[in-house]
Amino acid sequence: MANLYHNDIYKFEKPINSYWESTISTHGKYETFQKDLSTNVVVIGGGYTGMSCALSLAKQYNEEVVLLEAGHIGWGSSGRNAGFCCIPPAKMSVKKMFKKFGKKETKKFFQNTIEGSKFTKNLISEYNIDCDLTGDRNFEVAPHPSYFESIKDEAETYKKEFGIETQVYSKEEFNEIGHGGNEQFGAMSYQPGFAINPLKFLLGMANEAKKSGVKIFQKSKVTKIEKNNGKYKIISNGHTIKANKVVMATNGFYKDDIFPQLNNMILPVISNIIITRPLTKDEIKSHNFITNNPVLNIRNLLFYYRLLKDNRFLFGARGDLIGSEKSSLEKSKSMEKQMKNVFPNWSNVNIDFHWRGLVAVTAKFTPSIGKLDDDEIYYSFGYQANGVNTAPWSGNQLARLIMSNSKELDISNLYKGLPNKFPFPKLRLFYLRLALAYYKFMDKY
Ligand SMILES: Cc1cc2nc3c(=O)[nH]c(=O)nc-3n(C[C@H](O)[C@H](O)[C@H](O)COP(=O)(O)OP(=O)(O)OC[C@H]3O[C@@H](n4cnc5c(N)ncnc54)[C@H](O)[C@@H]3O)c2cc1C
Repeated sequence: MANLYHNDIYKFEKPINSYWESTISTHGKYETFQKDLSTNVVVIGGGYTGMSCALSLAKQYNEEVVLLEAGHIGWGSSGRNAGFCCIPPAKMSVKKMFKKFGKKETKKFFQNTIEGSKFTKNLISEYNIDCDLTGDRNFEVAPHPSYFESIKDEAETYKKEFGIETQVYSKEEFNEIGHGGNEQFGAMSYQPGFAINPLKFLLGMANEAKKSGVKIFQKSKVTKIEKNNGKYKIISNGHTIKANKVVMATNGFYKDDIFPQLNNMILPVISNIIITRPLTKDEIKSHNFITNNPVLNIRNLLFYYRLLKDNRFLFGARGDLIGSEKSSLEKSKSMEKQMKNVFPNWSNVNIDFHWRGLVAVTAKFTPSIGKLDDDEIYYSFGYQANGVNTAPWSGNQLARLIMSNSKELDISNLYKGLPNKFPFPKLRLFYLRLALAYYKFMDKY
């Protein structure tokens, strides 16, 4: 299958130059798969979904698990995201969810997503993972006065319909507790919400999974799966694992190349992050940047940011449509410009790090967790860029599904069922281009 993006973005063997990679070593901790094996469950993909699933299977069910990761552990989006624990994992308005799924299932969805945030936080405390946990809520900021009403409405809906604690702040109020700058016209907050160093969190989970008996192999890309007499042969590095069950936890980096039933369901969207040098106290003060909570600017073409513990500023946005190293650099330059338009007093601040990765958007616009009907193939993907909240919890749900006799999980219907395949899958980037043009138009206030 031809790549949707330039091959640069799929170089599993090459670590990305992220800020997170500079905060902790990922070298040499896990072996490469080089010997035939047999096991009960094989997990493909070593991000939050796969690692949480493997950890749950080994720890809670004493199950035999082998995990195969194409890059090093931490190579995928779980090791390179912005670390925001946000809700909800959906690219759909609440109004539309009510209409499509009904109030009961939508309420359950929000309840599950709050469970997801708590699940992530509990993993951190249960395993004492030192991952620079910060913040006690998430902020959403109006980029223009015309957005303030919709922010107030959202806060009201979250509170009234889902019992989520929210608070609304005028521009002046948010200037006192959040920040100033050119695109701050009031805000709202919701709880729970926090931020982490995403790579440290993943490596902490991997450590626990290994201690619990999961056989973890990195630099071990699965190239083929064969089914014989109800058993699976998983091929990687020219060797074979025989297994009874397979978990597909490859999310946005799946190249539609292993399992035809799951092909062409994901639109991988590039997301970029830039990080400044540490800001001085005066620079921080010049925009009243007080908060360490994650902040989302709610433009249709949204961007997000937060102040890190060493006073570097993280700024993230949708990426380019090409995927080469060159296009990534160009995108980081345009993001730098955008960041400096919003926070003009930082116009002389250098960018120390820039990188990107893939988030998984699907035509369903909500995640998909489940099992293929006539196969022992389990899947979880399509978190619509909300994996910190959703992926560890989903991995745990998959472990439950694998170990239960029932085919059903007691979770909201919004998570169930596979998304439709994209018609003419080669045109996925064209569909994205159209959507982006529409959002750009809508952001012209
Ligand atoms: C730049 C960026 C910023 C983001 N910011 C946030 C954020 O702030 N908050 C948030 O909630 N979410 C964020 N996300 C999304 C979040 O990172 C993902 O939703 C989450 O990490 C998904 O976890 P996962 O385990 O399902 O996938 P991944 O972490 O991507 O793991 C999948 C793994 O599968 C491996 N793989 C693929 N094919 C194969 C194969 N054939 N064989 C073996 N292994 C294979 C890949 O190497 C990869 O490591 C961001 C994503 C990006 C890219």
